[in-house]
Amino acid sequence: MYPFKKIESKWTNRWLESSIYEPSLDKAKKPFYNLMMFPYPSAEGLHVGNVYAFVGSDIYGRFKRMHGEDVFEPIGLDGFGIHSENYALKVGTHPVDQAKTSEKRFYEQLKMMGNSFAWNERLETYDPEYYRWTQWIFIQMWRQGLAYKKKASVNWCPSCRTVLADEQVEGGECERCKTEVTKKDLEQWFFKITDYAEKLLSNLDKIDWPENIKTAQRNWIGKSQGSLIKFPVAETKESIEVYTTRPDTILGATYMVLAPEHPLIDAVKNRITNKKAVESYIEKSKSKTENDRMAEGKSKTGVELRGIKAINPATEKEIPVWISDYVIMSYGTGAIMAVPAYDERDEEFAKKFKIPIKKEKLVDGDEITKKVGGKKKTNYHLRDWLISRQRYWGPPIPMIHCEKCEEAGKGEQAGMPGWYAVPEKDLPVALPKIKEFKPKGTPEGPLASSPAFYKTKCPHCGSPAKRETDVSDTFLDSAWYFFRYIDVNNKKEIFKKERAKKWLPVNMYIGGAEHAVLHLLYSRFLTMVFKKMGLVNFEEPFTTLRANGLLIKEGMKMSKSRGNVVNPDQYIDKFGADVLRTYLMFLGPFQEGGDWRDAGIMGVVRFLNRTWDSVLAGELKEGGLSDWMHASIKKITDETAGIKYNTAISELMVIMNTFEEKGATKEDIDVFLRLLAPFAPFVSEELWEKVGNKYSVHKAQWPTYEEDKLIEDTFTLIIQVNGKLRGSVDVKRGISEKDALKLAEAEKRVKEVLGNKKIKKVIFVEDKLINLVI
Ligand SMILES: [Zn+2]
Ligand SMILES: [Zn+2]
Repeated sequence: MYPFKKIESKWTNRWLESSIYEPSLDKAKKPFYNLMMFPYPSAEGLHVGNVYAFVGSDIYGRFKRMHGEDVFEPIGLDGFGIHSENYALKVGTHPVDQAKTSEKRFYEQLKMMGNSFAWNERLETYDPEYYRWTQWIFIQMWRQGLAYKKKASVNWCPSCRTVLADEQVEGGECERCKTEVTKKDLEQWFFKITDYAEKLLSNLDKIDWPENIKTAQRNWIGKSQGSLIKFPVAETKESIEVYTTRPDTILGATYMVLAPEHPLIDAVKNRITNKKAVESYIEKSKSKTENDRMAEGKSKTGVELRGIKAINPATEKEIPVWISDYVIMSYGTGAIMAVPAYDERDEEFAKKFKIPIKKEKLVDGDEITKKVGGKKKTNYHLRDWLISRQRYWGPPIPMIHCEKCEEAGKGEQAGMPGWYAVPEKDLPVALPKIKEFKPKGTPEGPLASSPAFYKTKCPHCGSPAKRETDVSDTFLDSAWYFFRYIDVNNKKEIFKKERAKKWLPVNMYIGGAEHAVLHLLYSRFLTMVFKKMGLVNFEEPFTTLRANGLLIKEGMKMSKSRGNVVNPDQYIDKFGADVLRTYLMFLGPFQEGGDWRDAGIMGVVRFLNRTWDSVLAGELKEGGLSDWMHASIKKITDETAGIKYNTAISELMVIMNTFEEKGATKEDIDVFLRLLAPFAPFVSEELWEKVGNKYSVHKAQWPTYEEDKLIEDTFTLIIQVNGKLRGSVDVKRGISEKDALKLAEAEKRVKEVLGNKKIKKVIFVEDKLINLVI
């Protein structure tokens, strides 16, 4: 094994000392922002999945740097928030102390990987100098009318003991801990992301992102065009409004269904003749989760509101009104017109409760709308972003509530009396180190038990007032970190506008697809708000996004419970970071993922050892770049640009084979080392120095090729009869025996020898020769 330990520690230090990966943030001429998703320390160290994504991103950055770009590749820690807090809880430490331990450990690992990080610009989201600006953003949202507090039925994770945003609930489960989420009526802070629903949707057409991520966002935003139609309630002044995307089916609407929470039920309760049954149904539905209520395949329950009839405005006929918990109050209007002839769910319900099903003709949706006085309406599935968390480890929400001002009807924003933002000069609102930091499971977070924290004065009237004791969602921390990287030491403003103009939007963002409707949606939203505030001149933060595939082991998902998690440190220790990097990238197409096999890593170990021996053998051929190298340069250039690293590495291996077969010139070796540099940065740097080149290979120009030297992938097929040479022909590599035989038989001298004799046997050596035995 080549001396990888010595080499890797030598170059880690040398790169740091000479700052070769630190572009001038003010003066760079060809800025290229190469971003990866910063890790959250929720375990004792980096997962191999992180290493996979980071190496893939780094290769791209190194490739661009060798093309003369001023590549900026920053790193930091997304260390605030529930993931890191839960880890501290698990290991029994205080999050403040755990953060220090994790920081040291994660940065050590990140340094070992050999990425070209700009270490001077690292940041941690729990650093008060960082979250001062997270809080500042909250205040700007508040000033823009985009932050508000209201009582709502919200998602509650009983295990994490906090509310969750809609985006953090996947299939009815907490995205983090997989516990079933319940609903609670709580007063919470929201960001009005719905104001940007249309822009978030339409801008998707303008960005270079994987189609599946765009589709996930489109579906999540969930735009639908429909109509709002009012159905009068017979013998009352009330009406039931429904939202439908199928107004053309209105003639077939034979009944209506309300959510159990629908306000009409209370408004007409004196007319309901089966009150007891209705009340008991409503009570029962309260104990169910939204997921339970909407689950496909579950038999529908419901109760008719006897004594109440609605009038179908199109037929003017009276139809019954039911309540059922499969209708959700927060979707549409909380009421539906049921058309059992055209809707499967309605049909199932109608059959169960023996409600007539009428297959009426469809009408022109636009016409009938007009006729019954309906209004056209665009609906979105997207809900406002629930931003407050009843946890400890996050930035305190920088708001103050004054009772005296509330009583007097005073406040900073209409409709929110008593609420004031913390004056900007008082930021950050520091998170105190408190003993009792564990989530209590009550509607208030741990900071609510700390009078020293929450007691303050009203910024408006000076009376005793109370700070907000919730902290903000960790996804707020990560929604803007890439803005701060470009100006981490700025104490006066969130970032310098000139720097943003130079470096942003991000040129290439590489990371996992799992945050398609979380981080990747929230970052777009905040950037749009920054644009509106005049902080930046663009709306989309990530021009190009590529997602890495999933890494599995021996055909199975890696998990702690299976005990098959690959520990990157172990492999770095045994084989070096270059081997780990190259093997990870060799596993399969980066965007599709790969299957880690311990046996497979030896192939890469051999390749780098042969590289070491071959380059240092010193038996060089005379001359410049060998002609055959041009095709290899082209292939590796194209594959690396296209993030097909696995095939680029195969080609590097082909070059090494050819060196061993045919020998190499000094120029060949230099070119090879430059092509290898992004993948195996340490060994290529060491060999680059050893063969007498100027530091550093990572700043050297990427090799170019000449079009006219791109030789076809052909070879000379030797044709023999009874072992004697009878001809030869240039053909494509991989030619089949059948095709080779045809060519041989067509050869003039072969025909002469063959005459009328029969061929007894054909010996075919692929890509070499064909021998006819007669
Ligand atoms: Zn949870
Ligand atoms: Zn006040």
